[in-house]
Amino acid sequence: MAGIYDGAVQALIDELGRLPGVGPKSAQRIAFYLLEADEAEVQALVEALQAVKEKVRFCAVCGNVTEDELCRICSDPRRVGSVICVVEEAKDIVAIERSREYRGRYHVLGGAIDPIGGVGPQDLRIRELYARLASGEVEEIILAMDPNIEGEATATYLSLNLGNMGVTVSRLASGLPVGGDLEYADEVTISRALAGRQRITPIQ
Ligand code: ZN
Repeated sequence: MAGIYDGAVQALIDELGRLPGVGPKSAQRIAFYLLEADEAEVQALVEALQAVKEKVRFCAVCGNVTEDELCRICSDPRRVGSVICVVEEAKDIVAIERSREYRGRYHVLGGAIDPIGGVGPQDLRIRELYARLASGEVEEIILAMDPNIEGEATATYLSLNLGNMGVTVSRLASGLPVGGDLEYADEVTISRALAGRQRITPIQ
């Protein structure tokens, strides 16, 4: 499909085609939609794209996306500070929040351990997680990795290392679709997985 249109149209198709989940056909459909769309609609899209790069950053504490120094959850005094739920990506927070079951705080790793893809523990926000334990406020860490090989490797690594840091480590109960992505799990499944979480280290 490469290079069948001239200049700007092809450039737009190429850029759209690089987005996750957008194949060549969808890229072409979106490009032609935009070509025929109102000037104002296209302008709104351009502004939304620029704003996300200019304003949005990562929370200084947990790594969630935010427009401020601290994210909405870290700056909310009603959230329980003794529990941290560790997730791979900020979008996983949205999935867990949808369940309305969890009142603790979060920590975003920024990915998962993937030896084949060249991602090791040092590439993730694991040191930042250990640093958060120094205050002594945290009593439980809930590992909420994606139910796939990389998630499994990450949870195993973390549970081994967190086991002797004086916190209870637990993992979401099974029931999440294996090989899937936490963000696609529905709220009932996530609620059950949270409620039935299994402790993997004893209380110290
Ligand atoms: Zn935060």
